Amino acid sequence: MASVPRETPDVALLACSDYDRGLVEEKVGRAFELLGGPGAFVGAGETVFVKNMYGAVPGMEKFAYHSRFRDERDFADLIVDVALAAKADLHVVDGVWGMEGNGSVWGTSRKLGFVAAGRDPFALDCLVEDLVGLERGFNRPLAAAVRRGLFHGDPGRIALAGDDPDSIRTAGLVLPRGKATVKRLPGILMKAYGSLMSVRPYPDPARCTGCGKCALICPAGAVTVRDGTARIDRSLCIDCFCCQELCEYDGIDLKTPLAARLRRFSR
Ligand code: SF4
Ligand code: SF4
Repeated sequence: MASVPRETPDVALLACSDYDRGLVEEKVGRAFELLGGPGAFVGAGETVFVKNMYGAVPGMEKFAYHSRFRDERDFADLIVDVALAAKADLHVVDGVWGMEGNGSVWGTSRKLGFVAAGRDPFALDCLVEDLVGLERGFNRPLAAAVRRGLFHGDPGRIALAGDDPDSIRTAGLVLPRGKATVKRLPGILMKAYGSLMSVRPYPDPARCTGCGKCALICPAGAVTVRDGTARIDRSLCIDCFCCQELCEYDGIDLKTPLAARLRRFSR
């Protein structure tokens, strides 16, 4: 994809392996608040700015919405609606460092080497998805925006100013565990064994301190703490992974029910 300089580009892209954060704060001021930090590339299929605007939902309401919109597509639609309602004037992606793996707490930093800015969060998400080599459709809110005719979904049609994206492109981003496992299954196997092979949260009694934070935030009311350890009611859990993301003690493992059963047998 060639860089297309023009007067009002959709996205301004800058190759950037390092920067002076203090200077950016001084020059950009409040807009800096909109920067996506290293956690910008994580989550179970929601990357960067459309999802970032979900931060406009106040406090615990974020978790309550998870419980009201349990279907993945419905939740993606909700995220798009929030992004549209929030109407930020400018989005700036801090892609100097990203995060891969199981974010937002337990992922791994990875240098990506760019900063991008634009007014349209869909264009930014689409560009970033392309730059870091994610398959189209990985970013569910972006896919929802395309389905709803809000965005064309083609990175080749994004008008760029600045550096050549080919000088920034990266590959081999490690996906969140759940996402990686499900993606490896062909459709027919997914139908037959999907429930056994899809990753789910399992508290680890060795690391869980029984603090109860996950029980407080679980949008489905699926967590209770008994005998000093979190327990998850599988019939209630909606696999949002909020508990795993928010646990400060890495007390929640993500694994397939099959792996969990094998582990129990091997004890
Ligand atoms: S899993 Fe984490 S957040 Fe939940 S009770 Fe255990 S230590 Fe606390
Ligand atoms: S137990 Fe964890 S993954 Fe399941 S619904 Fe509650 S917060 Fe989400």
